[in-house]
Amino acid sequence: PLVLGIESSCDETAAALVRADGAIVAQIIASQDEHHAPFGGVVPEIAARAHVEVLAPMVGRVLADAGMTLADVDAIAATAGPGLIGGVMVGLVTAKALSLASGKPLIAVNHLEGHALSPRLADRELEFPYLLLLASGGHCQILEVRGVGEYRRLATTIDDALGEAFDKTAKILGLGYPGGPAVERLAKEGDPDAVPLPRPLKGSAEPHFSFAGLKSAVMRAHDSGQYAAADIAASFQQAAMDCVIDRTAGALAVANDVKALVVAGGVAANQRLRGALEDMAQRHGLAFAAPPMKLCTDNAAMIAWAGQERLAAGLVEEGGDPLSISARPRWPLDPDAEAVRGAGV
Ligand code: ATP
Ligand code: MG
Ligand code: FE
Repeated sequence: PLVLGIESSCDETAAALVRADGAIVAQIIASQDEHHAPFGGVVPEIAARAHVEVLAPMVGRVLADAGMTLADVDAIAATAGPGLIGGVMVGLVTAKALSLASGKPLIAVNHLEGHALSPRLADRELEFPYLLLLASGGHCQILEVRGVGEYRRLATTIDDALGEAFDKTAKILGLGYPGGPAVERLAKEGDPDAVPLPRPLKGSAEPHFSFAGLKSAVMRAHDSGQYAAADIAASFQQAAMDCVIDRTAGALAVANDVKALVVAGGVAANQRLRGALEDMAQRHGLAFAAPPMKLCTDNAAMIAWAGQERLAAGLVEEGGDPLSISARPRWPLDPDAEAVRGAGV
């Protein structure tokens, strides 16, 4: 089968066509970075409006690029949450219209499931169960991915997400938005030991992440005027990596028979993180997987792929009513996971 994927949950508008064998037949990603850069972060109203402007023509272009029409598509997969409600609704309403017009089923995809399964799109050999570090702009979780729709959350952040910490550090250092790539670039020129920064929750018995204190320490270091920006960036990245490695090692110790250590989400584009996790996997005799950079940050190929995985697993209801699907601004992957100190998902 061929699945059309649509993504609009944050500040990327994207559409893609993906085959069951993982071939990405066509894909387009339009980033709204320049719209949000002046504000140092995503402005929800601006995001929703920009999605409206580009999404419908983008779907037409993706089909045209593939030399296809909607008739060639077997199902439409769209992000139904979690994310900014305005953007999610734009994507979902577009997908509903396409589904009704074509009679093809609509698959509601959890954006986090898109990230969680993206490594299998990139690496068709990657088998369940695997331990996943999902590190993005809005989330930082460690999950046991046991199968499609089977996620056991072992850890989450009690305050900021890892990508958010990179973005805030970039903002403090005046590096612009999005911050992750800019901080990584500047960190290469700095000394990771130059600035003493905390490692929140490192070594703690509880499994979770915390980055808010690290961000505040970055702010104080910057305000002190004592340190070069590159040294702050390098020290921040080092501190964040130390926390991530410590927490992931702890999760590995309690995970059940996982075969691979996997990282996904926007921060998985970070070379230091990939390298550190690959080393850890090697030490534990595990396979390591990370999607290529283009599949780490938001894209529609991973949404189409999650649709393919749901189809293959028999999780798509036949003759379902697309209009009955609603947008879910909050949508935990593991509904059993307790809310952690009110931090939500
Ligand atoms: P979520 O998936 O939680 O809803 P999101 O969709 O906004 O959030 P993604 O697109 O998956 O997030 O990832 C974007 C985040 O990844 C941003 O915070 C960005 O700074 C971060 N990021 C991207 N590249 C890098 C990098 N090279 N190093 C560190 N962080 C990075
Ligand atoms: Mg983005
Ligand atoms: Fe994302």
